[in-house]
Amino acid sequence: MSSETDLVGWKFDNTYVRLPPAFYVKAQPEPATEPRLVVVNRPLARELGLDPIHLESQDAAQIFSGNRLPPGASPIAQAYAGHQFGHFTMLGDGRAILLGEQITPEGKRFDIQLKGSGRTPFSRRGDGKAALGPMLREFIISEAMHHLGIPTTRSLAVVATGDMILRETPLRGAVLVRVASSHIRVGTFEYAACLGDRTLLESLAVYTIARHFPDINPEDPQRFLLLLQGVATRQARLVAKWMLSGFIHGVMNTDNMALSGETIDYGPCAFMDEYDPNTAFSSIDHAGRYAYSQQPLIARWNLARFAEALLPLLNPNTEKAIVSANEILEDFSKIYEEEWLSQMRVRLGLQEPREGDADLARELLEKMYAEKADFTNTFRALATGSSLPEGFEPWLTKWRTRLASEGRTQTECLAAMQAVTPAIIPRNHKVEEALAAANDGVLSVLEELLVALDVPYDHSRAREKFQQPSPAGRGNYRTFCGT
Ligand code: AMP
Ligand code: MG
Repeated sequence: MSSETDLVGWKFDNTYVRLPPAFYVKAQPEPATEPRLVVVNRPLARELGLDPIHLESQDAAQIFSGNRLPPGASPIAQAYAGHQFGHFTMLGDGRAILLGEQITPEGKRFDIQLKGSGRTPFSRRGDGKAALGPMLREFIISEAMHHLGIPTTRSLAVVATGDMILRETPLRGAVLVRVASSHIRVGTFEYAACLGDRTLLESLAVYTIARHFPDINPEDPQRFLLLLQGVATRQARLVAKWMLSGFIHGVMNTDNMALSGETIDYGPCAFMDEYDPNTAFSSIDHAGRYAYSQQPLIARWNLARFAEALLPLLNPNTEKAIVSANEILEDFSKIYEEEWLSQMRVRLGLQEPREGDADLARELLEKMYAEKADFTNTFRALATGSSLPEGFEPWLTKWRTRLASEGRTQTECLAAMQAVTPAIIPRNHKVEEALAAANDGVLSVLEELLVALDVPYDHSRAREKFQQPSPAGRGNYRTFCGT
């Protein structure tokens, strides 16, 4: 341990390696030739108890590339399985290494993971590496999500490794330092269930409860059912937030659904410009399985896989276990609908729940679809009292009548709406612009974008250039996994 790393503030306590060995393998990051910090998240570093000044020294590039381990790290690759586009596969961290769990000054626990740091025993035919573009993309979008108030894993830093990696063309290699409440996924439970050993499954479930649901009494005979319920509730809230911000995850495989309720694995995700519920950006999602409108259904489908994995713990009688699991899946749909509607009400400036609110909201979306209106900017126009195309008039009249019946002043309404209506989202063309510049060694475009995305609910500044959809038009934006 060098004296310099001590000053950084690492404080690891690694509980995952105390789980049975079936859940991970010890693994070391591969060396990077010439690591260089591209971007560091200073506020996040501080939250984690890390000193940003020391982080930005050369030493940090060594640590974040995996060339040197921080004191107390216990590097592993986690085992998991997953349903990918509906098909079950054994997976595991094929290009990520968990360094350990950092304990923050506030006593919170966060996984520190290196993504793109080389091969692990789970890599199969992959090289374990990641390209600079996709890692910066995850940095931008995950931090934007965080500032929008959407639960998410976070990004502490991106380091260029100095090595080229081979994809369709040679690309600059990079490592992303990902920070997460944990990396336990639905797929981790599918993996545990697959082992066919009830004790192993139970140890993972007990661990997950302790880590993410401290309110569940570990002695409660219903604790595993409560775990399922807790996960379902968090997913319902999360997906409702995605839907209200026009976010499309793009690859909602069960290995990409975290039990903490955080958005995880930013691959081909993107925010929708023009409202179209069938929008799917991912180049590999030909059937639109993970399209915008499918997300609540897929979340439920994934939860059903989680419930299946948990069945042996829910009740010794499988039929009874299935009945109680199904009740919770039904609840998921109800909670999701309620969450969506209550978030939508606030968006529309409504305080009191009234019958007809859901119809009012749906009619707005239908109108947006018919008018080919930009999702974010339509809500922004409502929240700032700006005009909308004429086609919206009949709906606006209805909405104003509904608003007036609550008796709040217009100023009050607009203030409440602005507080929950994004003024700015990471527009696809702005993200691409930042990535292209970064790839050419120019970081100022990325930095400017990150600063803008830090305060998404600030409607007071003029930020026109970040607010307009791509001039190139709609429909042809494609995202790639970048693996
Ligand atoms: P993802 O699409 O990032 O969710 O990854 C799906 C699975 O593929 C995970 O098991 C990853 O670890 C693995 N994977 C993705 N890219 C690579 C790579 N370049 N080398 C090895 N494994 C990879
Ligand atoms: Mg994944």
